[in-house]
Amino acid sequence: MRSEGILMVLSGPSGAGKGTVCRALLEKEPGIHLSISATTRKPRAGEVDGVNYFFVSREKFQQMIDAGELLEWAEVYGNYYGTPLKTVEDALARGEDVLLEIDVQGGLQVKKKFHSAVLVFLLPPSRAALAERLTGRGTDSIEEIQRRLHWANTELQFLFRYDYVVINRHVEEAVATLQSILVAEKCRPQRIKMDESWGNLMDFKENSW
Ligand code: 5GP
Repeated sequence: MRSEGILMVLSGPSGAGKGTVCRALLEKEPGIHLSISATTRKPRAGEVDGVNYFFVSREKFQQMIDAGELLEWAEVYGNYYGTPLKTVEDALARGEDVLLEIDVQGGLQVKKKFHSAVLVFLLPPSRAALAERLTGRGTDSIEEIQRRLHWANTELQFLFRYDYVVINRHVEEAVATLQSILVAEKCRPQRIKMDESWGNLMDFKENSW
């Protein structure tokens, strides 16, 4: 018996440490496919097109929406971000786990389309820690930091629509928790590909999400 790939969404306020946790998780679990989003945001210093994001114009982004190429999309901090559908579908079809690092608006859209997606909310240990991390990373202006802290309050309202909350006290601990979630999710009966010898047991699987 083996389990199908898992579509895991990681959301949380800017400054929660999503990027760091994702990178650390991928080091431990190199088989996970990290989805690369399209965005209309301008690249930050050091960001590479096709590695961090696909940096596209507003027109191109609209074309992608119109062509149904995005699994989900949302406006975040005045820019558009979206997940290319095909690469996600292809990876899942290969049986790979897929990780989306996206905002809460996107996370909820994913859950509507893929009921079996696992939504994880990454939370800093406190509000003070969130503000400290946003200021400390030195990538954004004071106005941008204020905007992100304000938006964090809105995002937190979505926390109870997520499947799991992981508190990011230490990266290693958060990564270990995410690994445990993946292990547990793979044990769900809906995901198990059972040996054919179990025959019509599989009839009970219909509509079980
Ligand atoms: P940043 O500009 O700091 O890279 O990302 C800003 C926010 O956009 C983060 O909360 C990030 O999770 C979110 N984001 C990145 N890619 C996507 C995406 O494809 N879809 C959605 N809905 N949000 C995204």
